[in-house]
Amino acid sequence: AGASPVATAPGSYGSDELRVAIERRELEAWYQPQVAVATGKVIGVETLVRWRHPQDGLVFPDQFIGVAENSGLVDALTHAVMGEAVAQARAWRDAGHELRVAVNLSMQTLNSLDFPDLVQRRVEAAGVHPRDIVLEVTESRLMMDPSAVLDVLTRLRMKRFRLSIDDFGTGHSSLAQLRDIPINELKVDRSFVHGAAANAKLGAIFSASQGLARQLGLDFVAEGVDDEADWRFLRAARCDYAQGYFIARPMPAADFPAWRRRRKQLCAE
Ligand code: C2E
Ligand code: CA
Ligand code: CA
Repeated sequence: AGASPVATAPGSYGSDELRVAIERRELEAWYQPQVAVATGKVIGVETLVRWRHPQDGLVFPDQFIGVAENSGLVDALTHAVMGEAVAQARAWRDAGHELRVAVNLSMQTLNSLDFPDLVQRRVEAAGVHPRDIVLEVTESRLMMDPSAVLDVLTRLRMKRFRLSIDDFGTGHSSLAQLRDIPINELKVDRSFVHGAAANAKLGAIFSASQGLARQLGLDFVAEGVDDEADWRFLRAARCDYAQGYFIARPMPAADFPAWRRRRKQLCAE
């Protein structure tokens, strides 16, 4: 078979191949916009990594994040993505866009005690404020080594980075983590967002999560806003922020200005 525009089967990438890809800078940061539900205003983006594979085309993270995590490459991956995201945050700011830029972190990264200083130096060198960088952490990963992770997260928070709990509702010790971790934002998992308008159970889980966020003074973000029914549901629920295909798919930074112009025209009409 020749080169294909879509990725090959999962599990087909080895750690050597990924290591070389990171060295050759084949990993790209893509960005998915986040908007305020009440106003529609674009408030930030989530950075999502893609691998521009020389033969296979664009490869999605579910096909190589696991490989990176199991082979000690995830720190290198995080730094590659973070480097791009921070530079992009600066470029957007210089262009007059006030955007928060979120980056996904892996457990291994949160276990290394020098990570907070490293990322702080990086952000400062780029001339970006830590408060404009959101670090997304998943609950299931949070559980693995609580004391080290808590230490790193606390240091990051003290440095004024914003912390977000990702995929909320899918982990196992979510409530204990909310108690212990100095987070700013709760991102309810897309499995409780898409279809919530038509499914009372999903709606109840969504509302309970939202109530929790409100009582704890956290920003509440809905991801996986896939269609108009999801969007209407969020409007009615007075959700703070939203992200999903209905608003925009992840895109390269180069496509962002045109998307934003189109959106402004639509919203002005
Ligand atoms: P995530 O952090 O939960 O990211 C959201 C995923 O949902 C993204 O998939 C995004 O493209 C997808 N998505 C966005 N809107 C919708 C929607 O309306 N409907 C549906 N069905 N899906 C939507 P993607 O980019 O394939 O990323 C998958 C996962 O890979 C991410 O899930 C995150 O856990 C991980 N990941 C991505 N980039 C990085 C990275 O730089 N570092 C680490 N450690 N993990 C990453
Ligand atoms: Ca995320
Ligand atoms: Ca998520």
